[in-house]
Amino acid sequence: MTVFIKESHHVTESVSTLNFSYESDRGCGFCFDCNADGSLTEETKALPAAMVNYEYALAESKKSDGLIVADGVVTKKYRSFVPAVIECSKCKKEHQLGSGSYADTQCSCGQNYNAFGQELRADYQDASTYAETGEDYYGDGDDY
Ligand SMILES: [Zn+2]
Repeated sequence: MTVFIKESHHVTESVSTLNFSYESDRGCGFCFDCNADGSLTEETKALPAAMVNYEYALAESKKSDGLIVADGVVTKKYRSFVPAVIECSKCKKEHQLGSGSYADTQCSCGQNYNAFGQELRADYQDASTYAETGEDYYGDGDDY
């Protein structure tokens, strides 16, 4: 029986960018990861090439005949899935389950789990062992 420590859930997150466009081609230009107030993130500030572009875009947008227009802060919200956390049946440590394309996960102790928290045997990816357990590759009862 799987012990759930945290149920899976959704969270709404947001990401903001400070955008600049070419006057001649609005929508094309530069965007920099920023905080909601438009200040650049520390990660952005740590990228020398990004800062060269930022200084260029900022200076150009301040000129009356500049090639760049400041479009301001754009904040996009998105919803993401947070998989459940279970107590590993083998080592009792917390283990975050997978989801989507990476549904199967392995605890640091080696125990495998599917996205529902069901234990998977160690050789579950080896199709040659399926016959021993009455499984088949496609789940349709036919040999493959
Ligand atoms: Zn474990």
